[in-house]
Amino acid sequence: MSRRRQIYEGKAKILYEGPEPGTIIQYFKDDATAFNAQKKGSISGKGVINNRISEHIYGILEGMGIPTHFIKRVNMREQLVKKVDIVPLEIIVRNVAAGSMSKRLGIEEGTPLSRAIVEFCLKDDALGDPLIAEEHVLAFGWASEEELDEITATALRVNDIMSGIFAAIGIKLIDFKLEFGRHYTDDGIELLLADEISPDSCRFWDIKTMEKLDKDRFRRDLGGEVEAYQEVARRLGVLPEEAEGNNGAGIKAVGK
Ligand code: UDP
Repeated sequence: MSRRRQIYEGKAKILYEGPEPGTIIQYFKDDATAFNAQKKGSISGKGVINNRISEHIYGILEGMGIPTHFIKRVNMREQLVKKVDIVPLEIIVRNVAAGSMSKRLGIEEGTPLSRAIVEFCLKDDALGDPLIAEEHVLAFGWASEEELDEITATALRVNDIMSGIFAAIGIKLIDFKLEFGRHYTDDGIELLLADEISPDSCRFWDIKTMEKLDKDRFRRDLGGEVEAYQEVARRLGVLPEEAEGNNGAGIKAVGK
């Protein structure tokens, strides 16, 4: 596809103007960042794999009646999505204590939670995406009460569906991050699940070995990032052909 107008470049994706008004092309990069972009690197082939994994999961969610921005994958690194105004919140759903919650509350990583927890963070890199309460969201008008209810209910449904998808392939869904956007139509404003769902935005642990199959391999310098992302794609049945059989040979994560 010829180069379109670039709208935005993020840490892991570039957004271009789409072919029709109200559409966007989402281009998946190999760039990886952690700790609010203090750690930078690249995971070779990550963009191709995340494009496939995200396509697969959004397809299932759409099939289960969850409205998303996803329209179709257009090539190895790009997908066509509906243009939305991103709600400035990161919605984190947790099933097992890990990461920032373990650190903040002193709860050992791997401790199962008695019920799924939904957290809200303000999407603001300069502030380090701080954890906020629903009261902050409402008081500062980042989302309406109705939107917040819909976001919470949808996040919990996505958790149920994704927990099932991953349990079936021997993976425990520890936690994940979602983003939502407002899509303007002739009939009004529709809230859509947006961004991506991939090993960049989820914690996946192998059920048998507890091995991490997600971005924590990069964050924590564990090595084997490419193989872990490929393994998730392989188990979901969406590993791109060119990645099949090479076991990551010749491609590796590179720190910067
Ligand atoms: N997460 C994300 N983007 C962020 C912050 C978190 O995709 O900017 C995901 C992360 O991959 C994990 C979940 O949200 O699956 C919870 O992350 P946590 O709050 O534990 O933060 P971290 O330990 O990654 O700093």
